[in-house]
Amino acid sequence: MLEAPSIILLCQQAKHFIGQKVTAIEGDETDFETSRLWNCPLLALRTFGKELLLCFPNFTISLTFPPSAAFAINAVENLPLHLAIRFEKGSIFFYRTQSTLIEQPIEEVYDFRAEVMNELWDGDLAYEKLLQIPQHSIGKALRCQNIFSGVGNKISDEVLYRLKIHPHSLVGSIPKAKLKELIDETVKISFEMLDWLLDGSAENHLLVHNKQLCPGDLRPLKYEEDDELENSYYCEQCQILFR
Ligand SMILES: [Zn+2]
Repeated sequence: MLEAPSIILLCQQAKHFIGQKVTAIEGDETDFETSRLWNCPLLALRTFGKELLLCFPNFTISLTFPPSAAFAINAVENLPLHLAIRFEKGSIFFYRTQSTLIEQPIEEVYDFRAEVMNELWDGDLAYEKLLQIPQHSIGKALRCQNIFSGVGNKISDEVLYRLKIHPHSLVGSIPKAKLKELIDETVKISFEMLDWLLDGSAENHLLVHNKQLCPGDLRPLKYEEDDELENSYYCEQCQILFR
């Protein structure tokens, strides 16, 4: 799944569609009636973690981006189309995405205090939620969208490596000050990641995610692909296991 910085970047690239009406819709893979969008003005582009929210009067379309998903603005890609929305001036195409239509006001559906890059983000609330799951591994907790909405494997790998915490550490065994540091670092790296995406330097800044060797001791990094820590990289020597 694309992480929050990538979704925020998408919002920035598509913001000129705000205020424009939908003139045509393509794509028959959605589970809602796409004709509902016709002639509706796009009121806002928002995010909730890894979800892109297209806000129209009376409903919202939520899109998520699995690893093979893609989007294009005013250009057609040769990929399986999920949804294409044509506006008065331009089009946006979503490929291999997943979408749902939300009827309720989004404030009733999402708690934006859990969204790491939102101005309503509440780090104290995240801390309280962590205290309630002492037996969970921190690697799993960091990817929990109810606590850290928007964080995926890249951000969690980098946060844990920078703070030298082993991903299998138990939340309840990590010193409390370290947990608070981890919450702050998660926000910091998420915004740094957005800057790196903007200048195209993201891959140069990652220390462990998708890398072969630990930059600290040059030993091979551990790679895991099981359910709990899917597609995760860490150093078994440098990162401390709190159990
Ligand atoms: Zn190391």
